[in-house]
Amino acid sequence: MISQLIENARKIIFKFGSNTLAGNDGRINSALLSEFAGQAVELIKKGKQIVIVSSGAQVAGLSKMDKWARKQDIHYRQALCAVGQVELMDAWSNAFEQYGFRIAQIPLTREDFNDPNRTLNMRNTLFTLVDEGVIPIINENDTVSVEEIKIGDNDTLAARSAILWSADLLILFSDIDGLYDKNPKEFPQAALVEEVRSIEEVRKNIMIGKTNSFGTGGITTKLDAAELALSYGIAAILAHGGRPRCVEALASGAQKGTVFLV
Ligand code: ADP
Repeated sequence: MISQLIENARKIIFKFGSNTLAGNDGRINSALLSEFAGQAVELIKKGKQIVIVSSGAQVAGLSKMDKWARKQDIHYRQALCAVGQVELMDAWSNAFEQYGFRIAQIPLTREDFNDPNRTLNMRNTLFTLVDEGVIPIINENDTVSVEEIKIGDNDTLAARSAILWSADLLILFSDIDGLYDKNPKEFPQAALVEEVRSIEEVRKNIMIGKTNSFGTGGITTKLDAAELALSYGIAAILAHGGRPRCVEALASGAQKGTVFLV
C-alpha cells in the first residue's frame, strides 16, 4: 500500500522530527540530510514535487550555543531557535546543493493559516518555488509563536501545509517505524499498526506514552495531523526517517510504516 501511494503521488510533503534530524552527538545529522536529498532528487527526476517541513532549530541552536542549554526561560528558547534556524537551513542547503538544487526558507505561524491574504501569498510562493525547481523548507517561526516551543506542532503544520499546497501525500518521518499499539520505547513487544482507516478507533485502542528527548509533539500530534490531512483527502504515512535510504525502502516495500487512509 505504501509503495503504491508513493508511486501514485505527484506532490509529496516530507516532515522531519527533531529526534530524526539529531545524530547521536545531539547535532544535526548532515549525513542523513544528504542521503535524503539524494533520494528526493531521484523523486523529482521522476516528475514528483517535494516540500519539506523541518523541525530541529532548537537542536541545531544547542550545538552552537551550548551555554544556553540549561536556560529554561522562554525567550532564551526562542533565541536558541533563532540561532539554530540558520544552522538548520545551512545544513539543508548543503545537502541539496551537492545535487545542484536550491532550498528556500518558509517560516510560518499558526496565525498565518487563519488569514486569507497570508494563505494566498504562502500558496503562491510555494507554487512558484516548486515550479522553479526550488525545495521549500517550512518550519514554525519560533520567534513569534511562543506556544509552539511548549507543545510543539510541526506535525499539524505539515498537515496544514499539505492542504495549502494541495499535496497528494504527507510523509511524517520520526524515530519510530510507525504507530504501535503501545509506545515501543517503553514496551519492546509493542506491535506496529500498518494500516489505519479510522483514527477515532485507533485513539481508543492504542496506548500513547510520553515522548522523549528533543521530540515535542509525540504520537498524539501525528494522529491529529493524519486526521487533518485525511479530512482533505490527503493520505499520510508515518515512518522511520533514520533507516538507510528510507524513501526508496518505503517505495519498494522493504521498509514498513503506518499508512493512514480515508
Ligand atoms: P518527532 O520528533 O519525530 O516529532 P516525537 O518524539 O515527538 O517525534 O514523537 C514520536 C515518539 O512518540 C516516539 O519516539 C515514541 O516514543 C512515542 N510514542 C508514544 N506512544 C506511541 C505509540 N503508540 N506508537 C508509536 N510511538 C509512540
